[in-house]
Amino acid sequence: MNTDKPLRLFFALPCPPPLAGSICRWRDAQGLAGRPVPEANLHLTLAFLGSQPAHTLDALVQLARPLHTDAFVLRLDELHTIGHGFACLVPSQVPPPLSHLVGQLHAKLCAHGVALDSRPFLPHVTLSRETAPGPQPRPPVFEWRVERFGLYLSENVGHGVQYRELSSWPLTAPRG
Ligand code: ATP
Ligand code: MG
Repeated sequence: MNTDKPLRLFFALPCPPPLAGSICRWRDAQGLAGRPVPEANLHLTLAFLGSQPAHTLDALVQLARPLHTDAFVLRLDELHTIGHGFACLVPSQVPPPLSHLVGQLHAKLCAHGVALDSRPFLPHVTLSRETAPGPQPRPPVFEWRVERFGLYLSENVGHGVQYRELSSWPLTAPRG
């Protein structure tokens, strides 16, 4: 990889393909207006790093390696319109291991000098962009067994954006 090229990076939970398929089938049956997110792109962002020099990649990978969080179940059970018309699935309850993972990650990134968005963390999975304001359909509960997180490169391709997994780490099996 060219060591001078800035990379657009983020840490995220990748949506497992079978769940992404179920979610997109439900979304498409609702006839939500707007620009649907491709099924392969469904994810939940943990930390958005923005543009980073490629030579910092190794340090970012090392930074995430020692993080330990139990695997957990995320229940996506509400559909909200956030920001500029993003229709998103959100959990009505944020599981403590998710807050723990994000807290550790943000602290490590801040200590490393990465400037993060100052807005509070809002877990969401974007399904569609440029949707009209107004009431949204009520989704079923989508249960996501979260077992790993990763570092992703966001790349513009002709027809949109593509995410490339650069590294990923397992969450620890819950005790008990
Ligand atoms: P595009 O911007 O081309 O429509 P995208 O938003 O999916 O596509 P990116 O802008 O590279 O791609 O963003 C990658 C991820 O980081 C997405 O989940 C996006 O919502 C999130 N993200 C982008 N900018 C920020 C930000 N300033 N703060 C927090 N999260 C962000
Ligand atoms: Mg964006």
